[in-house]
Amino acid sequence: MNLISYWQQTSDRTIVKSADLPTTSDVVIIGAGVHGASAAYYAAKLAESTGQQVTLLEQELPAFGASGRNGGFISTGTADGYASTAKRVGRDVAKHILTLSMRTRGLIQTALSEDNIKCDYRITGKINYALSEASFANMRTSAQMMREDGLDIEMLDHKELQKLVDTPLSEEIEGGKYVASDGLLHSAKFVVGLVAAAQKHGATICLNTKVTGMSAASTTVNIQTNRGNISAGAVIVSVNAWSSTVLPKLKDLITPVRGQILSYVPIAPVLRQGMGVEVTPTGEYWQQTVDGSIVIGGCRYDAPDREWNVLAEGLHDGVQTSIEKVLPRLFPRLGPLTIEQRWAGPMAFTPDYLPVIDRANELPNTWVSGGFCGHGMVFSLPFGQLLAQAALQNTTPSDLLPFRLSRPSL
Ligand SMILES: Cc1cc2nc3c(=O)[nH]c(=O)nc-3n(C[C@H](O)[C@H](O)[C@H](O)COP(=O)(O)OP(=O)(O)OC[C@H]3O[C@@H](n4cnc5c(N)ncnc54)[C@H](O)[C@@H]3O)c2cc1C
Repeated sequence: MNLISYWQQTSDRTIVKSADLPTTSDVVIIGAGVHGASAAYYAAKLAESTGQQVTLLEQELPAFGASGRNGGFISTGTADGYASTAKRVGRDVAKHILTLSMRTRGLIQTALSEDNIKCDYRITGKINYALSEASFANMRTSAQMMREDGLDIEMLDHKELQKLVDTPLSEEIEGGKYVASDGLLHSAKFVVGLVAAAQKHGATICLNTKVTGMSAASTTVNIQTNRGNISAGAVIVSVNAWSSTVLPKLKDLITPVRGQILSYVPIAPVLRQGMGVEVTPTGEYWQQTVDGSIVIGGCRYDAPDREWNVLAEGLHDGVQTSIEKVLPRLFPRLGPLTIEQRWAGPMAFTPDYLPVIDRANELPNTWVSGGFCGHGMVFSLPFGQLLAQAALQNTTPSDLLPFRLSRPSL
């Protein structure tokens, strides 16, 4: 068993060829996860008409971090419950986040068709199961608010859910919520596709290029890497769980949190939708991929420290064992499942469960994007588009204001 993820194993991350490090670039993006890849993609497209240079630096290969190790869900909404987000940061901000996430479906479809990105994207719908009356009632409150704010979301009882799922559900499932417009994709293929498209549109891609320091040099930023230095007119730091290693001031704001995950060998297609549940309070999620494999993660609650402050890749045996129990419990007739791979990935949490997308004021025209609290895939294209504009035009899009470092909830 190795720690390569199912997504990394089943994609070709070497199709993007690395370039020599330029000495200067108008915009430098650090990190080729889904957020850096998306920013590079939109920046390269914008720069085609302005002639600006765009460079993407990645310490390893594309999709090395969370983006290549996750559940592959494109789920609308906030990182934690909608009602609790609205309570914590205000209904307007919750609605803004929901609306941004709802933009994604159109952006994915456009990017995939315009740039021929193959990443198994499909609109499958997503089911979240409730295992108790209390959890069903909480879901109903959030669903009602999301419906009022524009999302088409249904609450279904056990019988109605059973009609959507081709294997008998455990009697303990009370009901759940269903979002028909949610989707699934192959995370690593998506990231590699965006990076390759950025390259096609003129971006310079430098892999195995680790940023080791940054300093202000008048109106530009001098970036030090293991392959030499590059001077940037603007910088987007998209390293999520690694944020404080690049920008130490973010240490108390963006905390790495490790997520455990595993995949089962392919079985006949039976689980069409993306699915989630709270067997443990920190949640579980799974999808059956197009080749029939099942990818399932969660159960972080069963680690003594909830995997808080862990950036290393290793496995937690107790969490892995808990994950193995989820599907047999919820789908008692699913049949024997054989584990194929186990891995872990670095999420990044903020104190108020909202990402940080803002200028890092200690450096000129430098933006930070990170802290997606285990729910970053759906925001990658809208934020990438906004950040590309912000960096190339040195403006602050108003859509990013709720994610500023100086917001009251931080
Ligand atoms: C187990 C797990 C399951 C998840 N499931 C889902 C899901 O189903 N749906 C969802 O929406 N979200 C999910 N998430 C969260 C989601 O994966 C993240 O929010 C998202 O991938 C973050 O993307 P990113 O580009 O910001 O960060 P990352 O993908 O972590 O990318 C950061 C990149 O920066 C690079 N880097 C770091 N330091 C440096 C440096 N010094 N120099 C150069 N490069 C550097 C890293 O190598 C890495 O490639 C999950 C996360 C995990 C870990």
